Amino acid sequence: MKKYNQKYPLIWKKKNFYIKIYCSIPNIATGIIITTEKSTIVVDPGDGILRDLNKDYSAKEILAISDIFISHGHHDHVGGVWSLLTYLSVMKKSTPLNIYYPKGCLEIESIYKAFHNVYSHELKYKINLKEIDNSRTFLKKDLKIKPFKVNHREPSDDGKESIEVPSLGFKFEHNGKSICYGGDTAYCDALVNMAKGSDLAIIEAGAENENESDLHLTIEQASKIGRTAKQHFLVHVPE
Ligand SMILES: [Zn+2]
Repeated sequence: MKKYNQKYPLIWKKKNFYIKIYCSIPNIATGIIITTEKSTIVVDPGDGILRDLNKDYSAKEILAISDIFISHGHHDHVGGVWSLLTYLSVMKKSTPLNIYYPKGCLEIESIYKAFHNVYSHELKYKINLKEIDNSRTFLKKDLKIKPFKVNHREPSDDGKESIEVPSLGFKFEHNGKSICYGGDTAYCDALVNMAKGSDLAIIEAGAENENESDLHLTIEQASKIGRTAKQHFLVHVPE
């Protein structure tokens, strides 16, 4: 297999539309921040997100995070949620936090429930769980977000087949520029359509080898999709 070494962090910026991918390493962690003039959002806060944000942003800036977007519930995409929520509580965040996640994502609902059990008595900010079950575009201050369903699966317990994982990709638009983040997915038309023409496409290439897989994209598939965007990053490549 051709080795593809992605170096992190990955940064892209068009005027005030900024994204930093701290990392996206299969089975370890993902961590992404997007900022505009008015918005600070986090996408897939995997393990280490707090440490990474703390290197770049002041406590005040971290407290300004208004929305978290979750592509799916695998631990390498949500492992940092608990510590991020706790930090925001300890630092006395007072503005609401919305967590957008695919309908049926048990992990986010379980983390939230456990977190609420432990900290609700001292929590000063409101956490709004926003389950996403469609592809309707919505607005958040100066950001437009279009979620889209992708096709991510995981091996069944006996390893004989694969089962569907509730998963989303997101297209973020600001000032006429767009970032398409596919999350984890095997080849699917929705990703192909959404990546096409984007200013930046972030495409996973998580397949273990170059054989087509129903769990992840191969480097060849991911590159082909990525090249339909103006610029692309391959992420989630096995190391
Ligand atoms: Zn996954």
